[in-house]
Amino acid sequence: MSFLNHQNNQEHTLPDVFTEVKHSVTARQVAEMYGIEVNSHGMACCPFHEDTHPSMKLDERYYCFGCQASGDAIDFVSNLFQIGKREAALKIAEDFHIPFDPKGRPGRGQPVTPEQQKEWEMRQLQKDFREWRGKALSDLNGDYRTLTERAEQNAPTDRDAPFPRAFVQAYNDRTLVEFYIGVLETAPRETQINLYLHDRAAIAALDDLVNGRGKPRASVREKLEEKKSLLRAQREKSTAPQKQRVAI
Ligand SMILES: [Zn+2]
Repeated sequence: MSFLNHQNNQEHTLPDVFTEVKHSVTARQVAEMYGIEVNSHGMACCPFHEDTHPSMKLDERYYCFGCQASGDAIDFVSNLFQIGKREAALKIAEDFHIPFDPKGRPGRGQPVTPEQQKEWEMRQLQKDFREWRGKALSDLNGDYRTLTERAEQNAPTDRDAPFPRAFVQAYNDRTLVEFYIGVLETAPRETQINLYLHDRAAIAALDDLVNGRGKPRASVREKLEEKKSLLRAQREKSTAPQKQRVAI
């Protein structure tokens, strides 16, 4: 746990959206992105006033000699689309694929390398996994208790009769629950994360089922019947060509 706690202190290494967008794109780049034609002198027809001759200069920032409109990339997009500054920054981040930390603090603007981005995604994954694991373990432990009770309540009483269906199902489900708990409590972290990535839907479905929120599942007998008829069909298929061969 100490390893994880240590990480919490350094959760936000990417800058917030404003800082990151300001560091990443110029007014000229966003203008061009959104369809403003900028000539080789960095001049464009101003979109903020009736302009027939290019009177806006665009570089890092923009300035219009006609209407004195000015600002940075975020101001430009905010005015162009008539949206708020934050919305504008988010729009630019999305359209230019600029990574940022939604909870990041401003003023830490540094160019983000692919390694930093990867590290950040890894941290996000670990964080999501930790949250999921806590809840999954608590659900699974609850399921274990429920299924133990259910199995006891439906325990076979007649030695010669087949096991009651509810007993078999509770027992089988509990085996699966036990397996998942085992992985989450004792398996190496990588295995646990793999379980999170690939099996979390199955675990949620199992929890729903145990708590009566899931769709009714085919009973063991129904499953057996299904398997039998499938086998029959396969046998018929495989014997059919043989008969033909014999006929030839
Ligand atoms: Zn203008």
